[in-house]
Amino acid sequence: MPGSSRLAVSLPQLRKQYNLRHAGTRQQLLAQAIDLARNLLLVLFLLRYTRKTFIHLRGYGVLGSIQKLYKDTYRRLYAVFLRLPLVQSKVRADVDKAIAELEMKLVPSGPGVTSYTTLPASGWTPDQVRAELEKLSEMQHTRWEDGRVSGAVYHGGSELADLQSEAFKRFGVSNPIHPDVFPGVRKMEAEIVAMTLALFNAPETGAGVTTSGGSESIIMAVLAARQKAYAERGVREPEIILPETAHTAFRKAAEYFKIRVHLVACPAPSYRVNTQTVRRLINANTILLVGSAPNFPHGIVDDIPALSQLAVKHKLPLHVDCCLGSFIIPFLARAGFPAPDFDFRVPGVTSISVDTHKYGFAPKGNSVVLYRTADLRRYQYYVCPDWSGGVYASPNMAGSRPGALIAGCWASLMRMGADGYLDTCLQIVAARQKIEDAVRKNEKLKYSLTVIGKPMVSVVAFRAAAVTNTDPALRVDIYDVADAMSHRGWHLNALQDPPAIHVAVTLPIVAAVEDLIRDLEAVVVSCQGQATEKKGDAAALYGVAGALPDKSIVRELASGFLDTLYKT
Ligand SMILES: *Cc1c(COP(=O)(O)O)cnc(C)c1O
Repeated sequence: MPGSSRLAVSLPQLRKQYNLRHAGTRQQLLAQAIDLARNLLLVLFLLRYTRKTFIHLRGYGVLGSIQKLYKDTYRRLYAVFLRLPLVQSKVRADVDKAIAELEMKLVPSGPGVTSYTTLPASGWTPDQVRAELEKLSEMQHTRWEDGRVSGAVYHGGSELADLQSEAFKRFGVSNPIHPDVFPGVRKMEAEIVAMTLALFNAPETGAGVTTSGGSESIIMAVLAARQKAYAERGVREPEIILPETAHTAFRKAAEYFKIRVHLVACPAPSYRVNTQTVRRLINANTILLVGSAPNFPHGIVDDIPALSQLAVKHKLPLHVDCCLGSFIIPFLARAGFPAPDFDFRVPGVTSISVDTHKYGFAPKGNSVVLYRTADLRRYQYYVCPDWSGGVYASPNMAGSRPGALIAGCWASLMRMGADGYLDTCLQIVAARQKIEDAVRKNEKLKYSLTVIGKPMVSVVAFRAAAVTNTDPALRVDIYDVADAMSHRGWHLNALQDPPAIHVAVTLPIVAAVEDLIRDLEAVVVSCQGQATEKKGDAAALYGVAGALPDKSIVRELASGFLDTLYKT
């Protein structure tokens, strides 16, 4: 059949044609799909960018965004300038010189000094060790014993210190990681947490953990908030909103855990965090709001109820940092002082950090982090179910922990009791008020210094009075005041942005408060109308630090300082 033969001949051809045509459409289809995907990606990218820009604009405002951009650009250009070879070698030389001077001050050297850099070939006798320990404790230092040091040593008296030593001795080998071996330590830790929860008015559901200090408590609270946001809301680019006066431990946590930080101004005259700005910065990536009660720099308590309203409305956790407030702030009302709302009675507050090693007078290395619910606490736990060393679980950063410190903390809390803490609250807050009154009202001080905000607890900060309403003959450079106080044997804290100094009153300072005010008067009078030629340490460091837009030199200096700590 001609037809069929023609068909038989043309079949392979047809197939070929068909395949060719289809290959064509397949390619076209593929090209179209790629095109579509590309456009979709572009749209998503633009959306993401627009959204980010929008969030940024809402958070910082148009003017604020422009200012931020300007500052960032200036800072970057300055960093480029610093990297120019000529500039860099000059900077290097200056930094090295500053670090060498620091080393001279911190690391003793010379004929009378022996440093031990290898093990003694045969062990010392106990008496040799004792004698050397005594020498070490008596090395020349700023006299905290005479109340010369702001903060730093939160000492509860020598009787309490002796009791702590007894607790150390009894529990020296203990480690709460083995609760079956050290049941007493487990019991004490649980009781420290329970007592602190009760003091901060936690509800029935409250829970907590002890940690090695305020920084760890804060780092744990930030971690818990990040894990919660990831697990419950899928937040992969977490952000926290911080008052600029909040403790650096929050920024440390953010750096460790890759969290973006939004810093919010705490403007004069209240120096509390601007809650309007906090509100504008909240977005889908926000994992945590923060307030301090009080903050470290100025001793100011943020508006916790206002932050709480935002937290409740946006269903966000709110951490209140009571590390410094510790066991003073809960006693303010009972002591008859003005008392802010700061604890779990404020409904939006979900976690609180409390340093038992500050005004709890526990030995250093103690703090507590509290949560409104045990579910929230779970987010800070670390559990490893499949380790060859066995199923592993730990509540915080450390593995093994010193049971001795827990025993020392428990002994302190039980010895002090509510009446003991009420009494120390009265003494410390009254001393802070005395210093504050002197700065506000004393004829020699009031024209040169200004108290920052309205301190409520143990810290009072002051800055140089504003230039506009100060007689030039009465003006002071606040860092010169800090340096002159150092010359008189005081260690007060220098602050920046704005330049200021603060006193964190401790029990040793309570006994020295008259001396402090007298020396401050003398120093301020000597600094009035003077621009000192030879700058002291604080003036030099903060003078430079404040003037630099890019902080890489300050970072260099500070890292050099840390290196110096390990020189023998
Ligand atoms: C001291 C302090 C902390 C934590 O400091 P640590 O030195 O780690 O104990 C946190 N917040 C405030 C306000 C503090 O004063």
